[in-house]
Amino acid sequence: MSPVIPIRSAGCADAPVLRERGQREVFCGLTGIIWLHRKIQDAFFLVVGSRTCAHLIQSAAGVMIFAEPRFATAIIDDRDLAGLADANEELDRVVTRLLTRRPEIKLLFLVGSCPSEVIKLDLSRAAQRLSKTFASRARVLNYSGSGIETTFTQGEDACLASLVPEAPRAPEGAPPALLIVGALADVVEDQFSRLFEEMGLGPVRFFPPRHAGDLPPLGANVRFLLAQPFLADTARALEERGAKRLAAPFPLGVEGTTAWLQAAATAFAVSAERFESAIAPRRERASRALASYRHRLTGKSIFFFPDSQLEIPLARFLSRELGMRLVEVGTPYLHRQHLAEELQLLPEGTMLSEGQDVDRQLDRCRAAAPDLTVCGLGLANPLEAEGLATKWAIELVFTPIHGYDQAADLAGLFTRPLQRRMTLVA
Ligand code: SF4
Repeated sequence: MSPVIPIRSAGCADAPVLRERGQREVFCGLTGIIWLHRKIQDAFFLVVGSRTCAHLIQSAAGVMIFAEPRFATAIIDDRDLAGLADANEELDRVVTRLLTRRPEIKLLFLVGSCPSEVIKLDLSRAAQRLSKTFASRARVLNYSGSGIETTFTQGEDACLASLVPEAPRAPEGAPPALLIVGALADVVEDQFSRLFEEMGLGPVRFFPPRHAGDLPPLGANVRFLLAQPFLADTARALEERGAKRLAAPFPLGVEGTTAWLQAAATAFAVSAERFESAIAPRRERASRALASYRHRLTGKSIFFFPDSQLEIPLARFLSRELGMRLVEVGTPYLHRQHLAEELQLLPEGTMLSEGQDVDRQLDRCRAAAPDLTVCGLGLANPLEAEGLATKWAIELVFTPIHGYDQAADLAGLFTRPLQRRMTLVA
């Protein structure tokens, strides 16, 4: 039995959005390295940055990484324009030492950051130069993880967009192929692969691939489904290579997963019977698992600060499948085209905001006193101290949450802070 309420309106398709451009409280795009380096198993991320960048990466890595690191920071100290030639020489020396010592690295990303000394360096030229030097050995690409104008999930977007031009060209007349775009946990990829196989749908490739040598061929035969809502630049780069995006909600929760899979099934002419027989057991199991969380969340209010760009799909899941009340749904950037199907599913009248003016938003949050607030780490502790239950937005990116088998786990991520707060209050 599906818990989904049928759509009776256009939801928030044309809803007004409060746009704020003030002080922001978000992590920078370097954060993406933490999950991307696990995904592409023969890649290395060399941050070209300051001591602050090194601290950010090391502290995140210190808690979350146990294997041999595949990232590092080349620290560029204060230097004037005359010192840039030396900086390039130093960078070449660091890369040469790294690639000589670590033959397993097949793809090296030079990741830019925001200190002015780094902005002065032309990392794309450095990447081209180093790619030539190590042509037979490894590819060298570059992207920016700078925090000046980005939020933390845009690091993944920039990384994947830099990878698109490296993909081979699909041969003329190649049969239709499906590409799933966005870093997913391996276990989730395997679940989706099995589902597509049972539908008789294929070939299916994932982007980014687990190995640098497995980049998918791109061309007009490729239809792609975004698995994450923060991949605007990657989608544009894929479209420039001829691939076509399949419009769909994102695969969060039972409803989102079903609609996402349906978009692929429709594009690849999978029969209704075959689609239903592939998804039905998993959909029913996921719906049953969700039911045990619904009574804990129904009627509870939730406020989203803009952080991961997952806010709108999460709000749709929490309101439609778990009955939560949406006080405000903030997102760093609202991509109306990629989120069109999501916006339609949001309850009419939902307060949407884009960008941030953190003090004003904190005032709105305090005035609303929501049962649960989703925000970045920097805001979570102060809000907890004021008596509000919070959920770290970044945890939603580090945890496998996509697909049927993860729907109940996703709901569980929102019940835990409420339980903890009840325990503290009791
Ligand atoms: S915000 Fe800028 S300086 Fe700070 S860690 Fe991120 S890239 Fe480095």
